[in-house]
Amino acid sequence: MNIAANNPKLKTWIEVPENSDFPIQNIPFGIIEVKGESPRVASRIGDYAIDLKSLFVLGYLDNLPFTLEDFDTNFLNSMMMKGKEGTRKLRNRISKLFSTEHDDLKKNEHHVSQVLVDMEVVTMLLPIETRDYTDFYSSEQHAFNVGCLFRDPDNALLPNWKHIPVGYHGRASSIIESGVAIHRPKGQKTPPTAEVPVFGQSNLLDFELETVFFTYQGKPLGDSITTEEADNYIFGMALFNDWSARDIQGWEYVPLGPFLGKNFASCVSPWIVTIDALEPFRIPGPKQDNPKILPYLEYLGDKHIDVKLDVIIKPENGEENIVGQSNYKYMYWNMNQQLAHHTVNGCNINCGDAMGSGTISGPEEGMYGSMLEISWKGTKPFKMSDGTERKFIQDGDTVIMRGYSEKDGVRIGFGEV
Ligand code: CA
Repeated sequence: MNIAANNPKLKTWIEVPENSDFPIQNIPFGIIEVKGESPRVASRIGDYAIDLKSLFVLGYLDNLPFTLEDFDTNFLNSMMMKGKEGTRKLRNRISKLFSTEHDDLKKNEHHVSQVLVDMEVVTMLLPIETRDYTDFYSSEQHAFNVGCLFRDPDNALLPNWKHIPVGYHGRASSIIESGVAIHRPKGQKTPPTAEVPVFGQSNLLDFELETVFFTYQGKPLGDSITTEEADNYIFGMALFNDWSARDIQGWEYVPLGPFLGKNFASCVSPWIVTIDALEPFRIPGPKQDNPKILPYLEYLGDKHIDVKLDVIIKPENGEENIVGQSNYKYMYWNMNQQLAHHTVNGCNINCGDAMGSGTISGPEEGMYGSMLEISWKGTKPFKMSDGTERKFIQDGDTVIMRGYSEKDGVRIGFGEV
């Protein structure tokens, strides 16, 4: 696949700091707000947001399948309704306008000043309106660790796990933008010594280090999307902190699964990195022949992606502590398989649906994606640089996730959530 905007040789006439997550090869999409102006669709290069509403009004997005309403709005959904072909053309056009090989825009300083917005004056909003959120459980190490902690190390993976991309339907209303403070949830829990449940604050508040992908408009109810077709239905990815209350979860989840321990907040990073931008970082996935997977889950080519992921706890007024370093490549099931499985029964998906990866844990200690695993259910507290310990999240802590892909001198980053 030859996507013009991915050319590693491209250079931009905008100044880009070294090790920026946003070189000209990224061109992510998000929603910006500047004081006194309406929210709008934007992209980003270096430390500048690119105002796509202004770019459109000035005529630089002519002869593309978009209208002003697609950019003069507070969600990306309208733009995403133009599908993969449309957004690919848009990304290629933005890349061209800002590359050193073209000066159509650059030579109009008056236009440049309208289009480029310093990130220092920008507030990032929730990028996508999501009506349905599905959370998978696709990292083998995470599923194994949780199986060890709650059941039996000899039978840690349940019999279905290597046959089905296990998932559940989450809650879309509590998907929030990065930076929103969340309240420690209250609920029913069963302390070890209690014979009946008690009501109170969750003491085992946790994060889940995940990525999320967002879909284009799918097929009608009753149709399915194959692993082969899935690429055309996936818009892009973001970082995702799927907050969890382990004590509430532990009591409520039998027999129907996660509920109030999971639905109080899921936090998404503001820039959606397109799957197009991530194509150069595709890698092979694990062999799936023991047991052999069913034909509808088989796929061709490399569908896994190498994305380095860090999760950090920053105490109130304290310094950042990296508590886990994982990678999206540790997924057993890839996005194409997840989407094929999700729709194989005829379930329809809509533009903007969110699909969480599930907590992503790597194969060794130090690579785990939740405090549940990092502190091994509270038995191995994490030692912080200020001398305190963490088994789970304390009041005032900020949880930060960062991620990027890197190859051939090009770094495509997600920023942070
Ligand atoms: Ca999750």
